[in-house]
Amino acid sequence: MKKGYLLTPGPTPLPPQVCEAMARPIIHHRTPQFQNILKEASDGLKFVFQTSNNVFTFASSGTGAMEAAVANLLSAGDRALTIQGGKFGERWTELCQAYGVNTEILDVEWGKAVEPKEIQKKLKANPKIKAVFATLCETSTGVTNDIKAIGEIVKESEAVLVVDAISGLGAIPLATDAWYCDVVVSGSQKGLMLPPGLGFISVSPKAFKLIETSRSPRYYFDLRKAKKALDKTDTPFTPAITLIIALNEALKMMRQDGLENIFLRHKKMADATRQAVKALGLELFAPDAASDVVTAVKVPANIDGEKLVKIMRDTYGVTIAGGQDELKGKVFRIAHMGFIEEFDIIVCISCLEKVLAQMGYKFKMGSGVAAAEEVFLR
Ligand SMILES: *Cc1c(COP(=O)(O)O)cnc(C)c1O
Repeated sequence: MKKGYLLTPGPTPLPPQVCEAMARPIIHHRTPQFQNILKEASDGLKFVFQTSNNVFTFASSGTGAMEAAVANLLSAGDRALTIQGGKFGERWTELCQAYGVNTEILDVEWGKAVEPKEIQKKLKANPKIKAVFATLCETSTGVTNDIKAIGEIVKESEAVLVVDAISGLGAIPLATDAWYCDVVVSGSQKGLMLPPGLGFISVSPKAFKLIETSRSPRYYFDLRKAKKALDKTDTPFTPAITLIIALNEALKMMRQDGLENIFLRHKKMADATRQAVKALGLELFAPDAASDVVTAVKVPANIDGEKLVKIMRDTYGVTIAGGQDELKGKVFRIAHMGFIEEFDIIVCISCLEKVLAQMGYKFKMGSGVAAAEEVFLR
């Protein structure tokens, strides 16, 4: 028998209220009963997105909502700017290329946040850019980008700002309207404390103008259809009924806690994690732009990073994430997103210490846990 602890950047642990909601008998979606839930969930999403724009829900993972953004906003031959500072920034580029969009790439060193001024330069040099694709939290490197500053810049241009907030939404601040984010996409299995399976997308009036002129092929992900349906509190196709009922429960919990308290909790979990790994003599991968969503830590010399993650998971039931692509084996990532509290962090750091010790890494046993506890005692 093994008790499991999940500290990965998606999926994240499920609160009991969410599990309970998913165990209820299924109901039909074209009923007043479901319509009430859909209405409540849509309002709850607006609250979490901090927007008065419509937020549409698809039965897909977050990437489906990313694809919906590209397919609805742009046509083949259009020009777009993608900001690439990790695996998820690259996904924007790949999606644009799949739809024949001429993609200008702003390459950012992995582990660094994008310099908003660089976006301004690109927009000035290329006034034809119709959309700028950014990432709130680059989950592959543990970096948070300054979306507020980017929004201030993009709003001065003809382009729309599209933000991948799949990890970060409901965990760290993102003020969709106040920060001039035209399109924000997210997914269910991260800060929203649900299983994977829902993709979300908010759309501003400026973005809707583009949507009406796009010539890209789309059917399931057609936001014009989604809007027509949502205006009648409906969905064009069968919605993921059970997940939306669970979403409604998660959103109720979030409303009860309040966004400010949620952000503070994430900050505290992140701070404790960072202090703990530093106390163990480890280095952060992104010290200058470390996100409060997920902490990427450099694997120390002479330690096999993939093995470390594997032993924590297979021997002790504590699941964290390794590095992706060029960071494979070079970093491990501890997510402190969603339904995570201080004793989850303590368990994780304690397990990390145990496995590091077994692998021959030299440090003072207990120093990581003590550093985390210091943060929690403050
Ligand atoms: C998890 C994640 C994605 C991918 O979402 P899926 O739900 O796996 O499609 C995209 N972007 C970021 C920043 C993520 O963290």
